Amino acid sequence: MIINSPKNIALLNSLIISIIAGCAFVILTDSFNDINVTSLLIFVAFIFVSSFALINFSVTRFISEKIKVIYSTIGLVRPKPDKKSKVKGDVLEIVNQVVLRWSEEKKKEIEELKEMAAYRREFLGNISHEIKTPIFNIQGYVHTLLEGGLKDDSINTKFLQKSVKSINRMIALVDDLEEISKLESDDIQLNEEVFNLYELTKEVIDFMEHKALEYKTTISINTTSSSSVMVNADKKRVRQVLINLIDNAIKYGNLEDNRIRISFYNFQNNYLVEVSDNGMGIAEENIKRVFERFYRTELSRTRDKGGTGLGLAIVKHIIEAHRQTISVRSSVGKGTTFSFTLKTA
Ligand code: ADP
Repeated sequence: MIINSPKNIALLNSLIISIIAGCAFVILTDSFNDINVTSLLIFVAFIFVSSFALINFSVTRFISEKIKVIYSTIGLVRPKPDKKSKVKGDVLEIVNQVVLRWSEEKKKEIEELKEMAAYRREFLGNISHEIKTPIFNIQGYVHTLLEGGLKDDSINTKFLQKSVKSINRMIALVDDLEEISKLESDDIQLNEEVFNLYELTKEVIDFMEHKALEYKTTISINTTSSSSVMVNADKKRVRQVLINLIDNAIKYGNLEDNRIRISFYNFQNNYLVEVSDNGMGIAEENIKRVFERFYRTELSRTRDKGGTGLGLAIVKHIIEAHRQTISVRSSVGKGTTFSFTLKTA
């Protein structure tokens, strides 16, 4: 018999009870011959009916109803017993499985929430650390100026210029934070259009000319590259990618003779773009981490070029939003090459 409902459980149990009661009736009666068969049958029937009613009521009221409450509490529909399963019809086993599954799902959700909380803590820690440095610098310069420095011509202009530099650093950080939060929100809107990447690169090189001169850097486009590099992408965002990569190649470039070269390679469906420099390079162990937010190598920290540590994270987000890839190869003291792909128009 399949014991999968309160009725079946009650039926089986009342059957056993009536048999035992019948035997007891016979034993307690002085001699078997004296037994009135009719009264024995009436007695057994009475025991059967009353125990069935009692057990059925108890199982339904105290077990089955509670199981239903468990199912509704955990928001799951009560599964039908699997006929092939070994635990066929075993209500408690099914409840056990469902509760286990439910607890595993909740455990996973809690883990994810914990990870997000840790990420938020780390992110906030990084932001406050990055903001603290320029704020304390400005505070120091302003105090010195107020305490008499203003009248000292040897420092007044210098300290004001340094304050402006720190303010610019904070503005850059806020801009980058705004950009990264936009990129990390789920709905990145790309305005894809067809444009000539060669022309855009030339535009960006002109835009960076001032900084390049300041760092004695020459930027060139590989002469073997065609001047028609038609791609389908979000032009404004690709411009940002080029600016960030060229800016890094200038900042972490060769101090004596810094040369940056940009190349385009046509691979039918995609263009491969490379931005190479002959600068300080990145150590092998740091390469896989440079795209992380706020990550900076020790080597570049010593130069302190006022970066935010978010530039490459932004670049990676933009390229991946285009469903393309970016990679880096580098060798310490020799230089670095960042390569990314874009869809050919
Ligand atoms: P930052 O604002 O510090 O430049 P990025 O996210 O742009 O932040 O870069 C992260 C780190 O990667 C830099 O701090 C630097 O250590 C390293 N890096 C990036 N580009 C180069 C490069 N061209 N040469 C050497 N190191 C680089």
